[in-house]
Amino acid sequence: MQEYDIVIGLEVHSELKTNSKVFCSCKNQFGQAPNTNCCPVCVGLPGALPVLNKKAVELVIKAGLTMGCQINDLAVFERKNYFYPDLAKAYQISQLVRPICLGGQIELEDKVVRLNRIHLEEDAGKLVHCSAAIGTLIDYNRGGVPLMELVTEPDISSADEAVEFLTRLRQRLIYAGVAECKMEQGGLRCDVNVSVKKKGSKELGQRTEMKNLNSFKSVYRAINYEANRQIEILENGGTVVQETRKWDDNHSRSVSMRKKETSSDYRYFPDPDMLAVEIPREDVERIRKTLPLMPDQLRKRYVEEYGLSDYESEILTREKALSDYFNEVLSFYNNPKEVTNWILTEILNKVKDLSEEIAISPSDLAKLLKLVEDKKVTRTNAKEMLARIMENGEKLEALEKEYAGSVDGDALRALVETIVKNNPNAVEDYRTSDTPEKVFRWFTGQVMKETRGKANATKAEEFIRELLK
Ligand code: ADP
Ligand code: MG
Ligand code: ZN
Repeated sequence: MQEYDIVIGLEVHSELKTNSKVFCSCKNQFGQAPNTNCCPVCVGLPGALPVLNKKAVELVIKAGLTMGCQINDLAVFERKNYFYPDLAKAYQISQLVRPICLGGQIELEDKVVRLNRIHLEEDAGKLVHCSAAIGTLIDYNRGGVPLMELVTEPDISSADEAVEFLTRLRQRLIYAGVAECKMEQGGLRCDVNVSVKKKGSKELGQRTEMKNLNSFKSVYRAINYEANRQIEILENGGTVVQETRKWDDNHSRSVSMRKKETSSDYRYFPDPDMLAVEIPREDVERIRKTLPLMPDQLRKRYVEEYGLSDYESEILTREKALSDYFNEVLSFYNNPKEVTNWILTEILNKVKDLSEEIAISPSDLAKLLKLVEDKKVTRTNAKEMLARIMENGEKLEALEKEYAGSVDGDALRALVETIVKNNPNAVEDYRTSDTPEKVFRWFTGQVMKETRGKANATKAEEFIRELLK
């Protein structure tokens, strides 16, 4: 196994974040009732003419600018001809000769992956496989949704690198507001080209392509399976056939689908219905100015200006929703270190994944931290308040009344010690009684009486139990 290099090139499709479809004014919206978001253009009825959505072109330019692509000054649309039931026109409007973006790159930890191009095309409808009696139904809602296709050079050398590449690409598209990349909705899909060659050899091996993978996990597993399959063939003296294979995630294997098609099989030709698109340099510069900070730039700012560690800033920028949240808390309470500590510990241990919406508003978190700073509540109480807000949906104002000025920590412990010391009979009672819980409640009652109800009850009980042992 060690004697082979793995070579991978990716073709990544992402649905763009526009309001309407790419060649008609139907809504670009997921999850609608089947075939309710369609019109003569996006189902390809005779005589219907496409009109280009300018926003979609802008988003592809924007994506390209975040990855250092060259933006063509003239982009052309071609028809890619093939029949499949989810493509009613029997051709897809796509780009071959003059895509919107050329070149560019994404930097990984240990290498740079060069991009070949990014172009704009339309998504196809969706086949819904039902029972044998019903058969397969077609939902054309997705047909005509703007799709950006990014093609890499074969610069990726392992399944880990492929996942790292996709993670960084996804981050960029989300940060730039180009795409939402909701993988569970098919918003980011990937064709994986894999070949192997003798270690160090200059010549690339024969590749196979696995289409339409929609999770990082299946990309990872598909690459490793396919590389091993090819190595085994070569080791046994065989040759790898260039073909399109289907990755079967349930059985963890790829199976042959068809002989690989080449671009000439599709009989591409310029779409006579589509004008070539001129992209003036002023437009490119205008779009460049709208680019927000990318995650790597934000990380740099967090480290250099806020004094955070590389680790902290890496986590905070992994999901845009999280870095937006962090930035917003800071706009109310400008103490990056403290805010980071709370987010990385107390908050993130209460969410399932980093992109989940955080169940305390940035302004409430800021207020809570201010209460701690002003010593109105103890740190321990603040943690409890946070848990009650995030887990039970309680309101900060109400909790503030309950906790503010409460007795906690060392002071509370000292108080419990005094009460226990001053009541040896009750202590004896607790240890010998048949109903020790009753005596225990008497002690908590004493603590509440002494503090006029302002003791941290959980902690008080903990101390009492400990001291009564
Ligand atoms: P097509 O459009 O016919 O699939 P392309 O030449 O555009 O062909 O390549 C598609 C993808 O395959 C690109 O990402 C490219 O980097 C990758 N690729 C090309 N040759 C190889 C190879 N020998 N091994 C692995 N990937 C390859
Ligand atoms: Mg391909
Ligand atoms: Zn339409």
